[in-house]
Amino acid sequence: MPIFKSKQPDINLPTDITVWDWLFDSPQSPLSKYPESQIAGYLNAETKERVSYRQVKEYSTYVSTALVKKYGLQEDDTVALFSQNTIWYPVAMFAILRAGGKVSGASPAYNVEEMSYALKIGQAKFLMTASSSIEVAKAAAQEAGIPQEHIFLLEGNINGYTTIKELIEIGKSYGEKGQIKAFKLPPERKNKDVCGFLSFSSGTTGLPKAVMITHQNVIAQCLQVQQITPEDHKKILAVLPLFHITGLVHGLNLPILLNAEVIMCPTFTMPSMLSTIATHKITELLLVPPILIRLVHDPEVAKHDLSHVRRFSSGAAPLSEEILQLLQKRFPGTGFKQGYGMTESCSCITAHTPEYYDFKYAHTVGTIVASTEVKIIREDGTECGIGEPGEIPARGPQIVMGYLDNEKATKETFYEGGWLHTGDQGWIDKEGLITISDRIKELIKVKGIGVAPAELEDLLLGHEMVEDVAVVGVRDDYAGELSKAFVVVKKGTEGSEKIGRELMRFVKEKKVRHKWIKEVEFVDEIPKSASGKILRRVLRDNKGGKSVVV
Ligand code: AMP
Repeated sequence: MPIFKSKQPDINLPTDITVWDWLFDSPQSPLSKYPESQIAGYLNAETKERVSYRQVKEYSTYVSTALVKKYGLQEDDTVALFSQNTIWYPVAMFAILRAGGKVSGASPAYNVEEMSYALKIGQAKFLMTASSSIEVAKAAAQEAGIPQEHIFLLEGNINGYTTIKELIEIGKSYGEKGQIKAFKLPPERKNKDVCGFLSFSSGTTGLPKAVMITHQNVIAQCLQVQQITPEDHKKILAVLPLFHITGLVHGLNLPILLNAEVIMCPTFTMPSMLSTIATHKITELLLVPPILIRLVHDPEVAKHDLSHVRRFSSGAAPLSEEILQLLQKRFPGTGFKQGYGMTESCSCITAHTPEYYDFKYAHTVGTIVASTEVKIIREDGTECGIGEPGEIPARGPQIVMGYLDNEKATKETFYEGGWLHTGDQGWIDKEGLITISDRIKELIKVKGIGVAPAELEDLLLGHEMVEDVAVVGVRDDYAGELSKAFVVVKKGTEGSEKIGRELMRFVKEKKVRHKWIKEVEFVDEIPKSASGKILRRVLRDNKGGKSVVV
């Protein structure tokens, strides 16, 4: 039965090199290919502070030496990066990789509870943050047993904390000969066996887990995307958060391979993003659906000259046909592309290639990227042919090695033969273009960010009024989806608007904004399978019934 293969030529994947050596010390590196004056870098769009990739190499070398020699960082240690977008983020990231550590990115919007959970499941020993996040960082670090000397600042200055600029100076003070050697793969291990990054994802079910992304995954994905990137892609807008897999690949690693300039937006507002796009004449805009929706509706857009924009690039969540049409009308003559994948596939499984940069293909997620295979399977496990929808497992060098210290979830998500369960449903046409038609896993996507229903269910079950609960995603025009809770109240109580509001307040108090509950519906029972699994689809499809909607 069919396995669908990429139409692209296979990538030439090195297996014996780390990300650091590959990007900074190999013939692939822009540092080997271009004269000094042509080497691109990361630019802060607000402050205009800039580091070229040559400087990133130099600064990261010093920081890695400081971390190892002065602060005792060891190979395989996890360092959490908990910060808004800054040009010092990649300096820290590459320093950690150079020292043989693991980089774990966390959302700067996390509260103490969420951050300490991320530190614990990622087993972080160090934390790098910004002064704007210090209160949360400090409290979370304390809970996770990270001492204050292991907390560093990427941005800002606070008494008692070492900044990244000070780490550079500390590293420098060891002299050129005193710099630590860049981490090398142990002789018995290939780059597919060594984890360099941890990202958080709930996968197809359960609580967020630490996804182990190897050096090979990142190299493979960079090569896969490079192969289908047009020559004109020389300026990259980094408005999406760097901690997410899209930011990690497309905003941090890939730009070095492409020698493309990254224009970083530390904070997001429509006016600042639009003026950055206009000032730097950025031709391809990598955005997520909620920002594209604002582009078609926000009157602010008319105040900026965006005539140089050639195409929009989207990913992370579906985009409605209606928005696509409005986008095309609002920006005539532009093209459109998108990528489809997940954290567990180190970003893209499919993407549009240049011949499909047209709105007429925008409802699809493009074709399979190089060296990658896809199957489409029915519920009974049999494989579908062209045009028939089913779940889409994928296999390729970008598929990650599993979840840190979670064999059960790893076994459920990655199955025999190297296949990843995506939990997404779709179909493939004769040309190899894939359309995503549904999401069959639990995951809720709010503004492109994953929300694990299990996390909200765990929280709500701790509320004194709640006997049982299930959380599902419901459509929202702006956010794409928002969370809705179906609640069974404790015996002797009756669901009411007051209780609904109290439960919403309870979630607001404990969780970051994108996890807030939009709606509470009271039901008599939560439908479950014989094995106790919540039947979310039954809840979602259930119209009417005895309920109070808040
Ligand atoms: P994450 O791990 O946060 O990147 O989330 C991955 C999930 O986001 C996928 O399994 C899909 O459900 C959804 N997703 C990602 N890209 C797309 C896309 N282009 N179109 C539709 N859904 C997408």
